[in-house]
Amino acid sequence: MTMRITVLGKSPSWQDAGGACSGYLIEDGDARLLLDCGNGVFAKLRQHIQYTELDAVLISHLHADHILDLVPFAYALTYAPRQQPVPVGGYPGTDSPARPRLIAPGGAARCFRRLVGAWGSEELIESAFALEEYDPEATVEVGSLRARFQEVPHFTTTYAIEFTSANGDGRFTYGADCRPGDELVEFARDTDLLLVEATLPRPERTGHRGHMTPGEAGDHGRRAGAKRVVLTHISDELDADWALREGSDGFGAPVELAVEGAVYEV
Ligand SMILES: [Zn+2]
Repeated sequence: MTMRITVLGKSPSWQDAGGACSGYLIEDGDARLLLDCGNGVFAKLRQHIQYTELDAVLISHLHADHILDLVPFAYALTYAPRQQPVPVGGYPGTDSPARPRLIAPGGAARCFRRLVGAWGSEELIESAFALEEYDPEATVEVGSLRARFQEVPHFTTTYAIEFTSANGDGRFTYGADCRPGDELVEFARDTDLLLVEATLPRPERTGHRGHMTPGEAGDHGRRAGAKRVVLTHISDELDADWALREGSDGFGAPVELAVEGAVYEV
């Protein structure tokens, strides 16, 4: 049995033309999990599955490009015809509307209330989803999927996340957003697939660093001994050939560039 990872959005904090920010659909047996839900992701998710079939959304950190489409997703769960208790719009009515788990870092409940409180809908997200804040020391289970966490250095509290399955031996490591450091290297040691951000055309020259270049991303894959490295969180305004060359130089072997709709199996 294999775990399937589908790229729904791979843009950095602004969308590619026609693209979406961070969002990855992970399927394993009957389990369906959305990893991050950035702007544009909800529409992309709908091209692959019914959003009511999703078991959980798991959030790496509370930045706009990883959470903003929780807003339209929450509206759909609240107002869509198929979610109503009485027959409407061709749907038969349901006593058990979908309420996926929303598994997010500490502080998420407050953050979401402030976000949708901007227009007076404080409870929108926590009403639509079954919200839980995860303990990064614990393992989260969603069906056959197991997620474990490692804090990585970024501008806000951020967790890299490793996925394994009760059905197989594959390991998938998502680096989230991360500046260069040893945390991700140790966490991703010998992983089968490392999805690593490569946001920057060059290292930040002022202030705190928060992201990586393609060369740095590849270097993290090499140091971790990852079997396969895919660069993500990368703009369509950055030259793809340059990014692949830089990443592969760092990795010492060809890396891949995440493209929307691509499917990886581990
Ligand atoms: Zn971020």
